[in-house]
Amino acid sequence: MPDWGFTTRILHADRKRGTEHGAAHSPVHRSVAYGYEKAADLAAVFQGKATGYLYSRQGNPTVAALQDKITMLEQGIGSLVFASGMGAIASLFLALCREGDHVVASQFLFGNTHSLFGTLDTMGVSVSFTDATDISAVEESVCENTRIVFVETIANPRTQIADLEAIGQLCQKKGIVYVVDNTMTSPWLFNPVIVKATLIVNSLTKYLSGHGQALGGAITATKHFDWESFDNIDPRYRKGDSTLWGLNQIRKKGLRDLGASLTADSAHNVAVGMETLALRMTRACENAQTLADYLHSHPDIEAVYYPGLSDHLQHDRAKQLFRAFGALFSFTPKKQADIFTWLNRLQLPIQSTNLGDNRTLIIPVAHTIYYEMGPERRQAMGIADNLLRVSVGIENQADLLGDFERALA
Ligand SMILES: *Cc1c(COP(=O)(O)O)cnc(C)c1O
Repeated sequence: MPDWGFTTRILHADRKRGTEHGAAHSPVHRSVAYGYEKAADLAAVFQGKATGYLYSRQGNPTVAALQDKITMLEQGIGSLVFASGMGAIASLFLALCREGDHVVASQFLFGNTHSLFGTLDTMGVSVSFTDATDISAVEESVCENTRIVFVETIANPRTQIADLEAIGQLCQKKGIVYVVDNTMTSPWLFNPVIVKATLIVNSLTKYLSGHGQALGGAITATKHFDWESFDNIDPRYRKGDSTLWGLNQIRKKGLRDLGASLTADSAHNVAVGMETLALRMTRACENAQTLADYLHSHPDIEAVYYPGLSDHLQHDRAKQLFRAFGALFSFTPKKQADIFTWLNRLQLPIQSTNLGDNRTLIIPVAHTIYYEMGPERRQAMGIADNLLRVSVGIENQADLLGDFERALA
């Protein structure tokens, strides 16, 4: 493809890849099985001597078209997609870790990822949670058997930003796999390949699909890790380009054996949503900045957490690394306010979990998505009982601002 810009490349990727009848979209292939005229050809695909499709749990043409687009957006060397973001993360860890391995993870994590690490712990893969905004804390947590460091770009709900660059350098120096969950920034705001991530995770459910009507997850491999030195790669997958061995093992041990595969219909929905990623996110980030500025200057608001505010602890880091400051912020009204009464005064935002929808969503996090975690972990993550999270959508800015003004009047 010529040296086109971000949106042009997404829009023309399918037809440039080659579609039937000159179709502008890659068709939705619902067939589960793919047949061959000659048994020898079928066997060749099974044995990896020829490329082709066999069974849609492992691969499907519609799904492959989406994978190629994500690889392009993340400037990677290959991608796999899954039925959800959690399907991707779980497959990654179950495919790459063995009993006795150690993982270092940010203590500021998506709640279900945190819960998954609790499950890994019961299976003999120990996980240390650390303050990923501080490289010295990460360095102290790394030990002899650390195989993977896992961080998010902007953490939810308090918007802490990991020291992405320094952690990348540390992982390179020590030969550790560096996994960056890019969900909150998406490939429009940030490409983790720049900080030498080994594997990039995206929940496609959020900004990439954008419309809140399809679940999906992705793992993208970069050229930055040579898997030759990673003992956990099965001898059967030590073939060909060694920078792809990790992804190959995730394809077989993760996607194929665990089966969290994306359907062709969902892949198509995500692909259509992705076409407007840059447009939607630009607008959502502008809306978020305006609302965060407004609340920040309001006397009835105690605190606002948004990387675009100059008093955010990692504001400079965000400015240096990201195209914009994201579309999610959290805040606390002054202590005396009852947040349930407060929330009911808002007419526009939907009181709902999820983020990255075109619609603005608001949620009292301690009472809902972080409830199961308990007060101690919530405190470690900086989640106060009255913290409200807003995932800002693409509504008309005056309507959003007007609704918050009314609620605070
Ligand atoms: C939502 C989310 C996930 C999980 O994605 P699903 O598609 O909901 O399974 C993982 N990481 C982050 C940062 C998320 O926001």
